[in-house]
Amino acid sequence: MTIDPQLLEILACPLCKEDVKLTSDEKGLKCVKCHRVYPIKDDIPVMLIEEAKIEPERATKD
Ligand SMILES: [Zn+2]
Repeated sequence: MTIDPQLLEILACPLCKEDVKLTSDEKGLKCVKCHRVYPIKDDIPVMLIEEAKIEPERATKD
């Protein structure tokens, strides 16, 4: 599963309007500024603040 790079380019964090980047597991889009991770459900990025999780700076293992 991949997200269209052109789609990625137009997507932005709804909170701070900054770019989002695909997470390493490709299951979410992370805001470069506030570090919220927006989930990708059925290949559709869910760009809703209430659906986002704030990821800590340090990488954590699930
Ligand atoms: Zn943000």
